[in-house]
Amino acid sequence: MIYTNVCKHCHKVFKSKIRTLCCRDCRSVDDSQLDDIVAYLKLYPNSNALQISEELGIHPYEIIKFMDEGWLNTVNGKFSRLED
Ligand SMILES: [Zn+2]
Repeated sequence: MIYTNVCKHCHKVFKSKIRTLCCRDCRSVDDSQLDDIVAYLKLYPNSNALQISEELGIHPYEIIKFMDEGWLNTVNGKFSRLED
């Protein structure tokens, strides 16, 4: 499923795999990164930090930081770093 979204910051129309109000370009100024990560993980519970990073435009370090802080523990316990 691909959603068509409108960015609340720059009003650009863009497509993504989750409903979100922030495009990749504006991700760094948005405060709902965690919400979008959680939404993405609900749809794709086996995603790792790099996949989430590529989809949402959030730096993997930020995602791992949320994980370390315990925000993502509720998502099936399958969240993990990339395996070689
Ligand atoms: Zn934007």
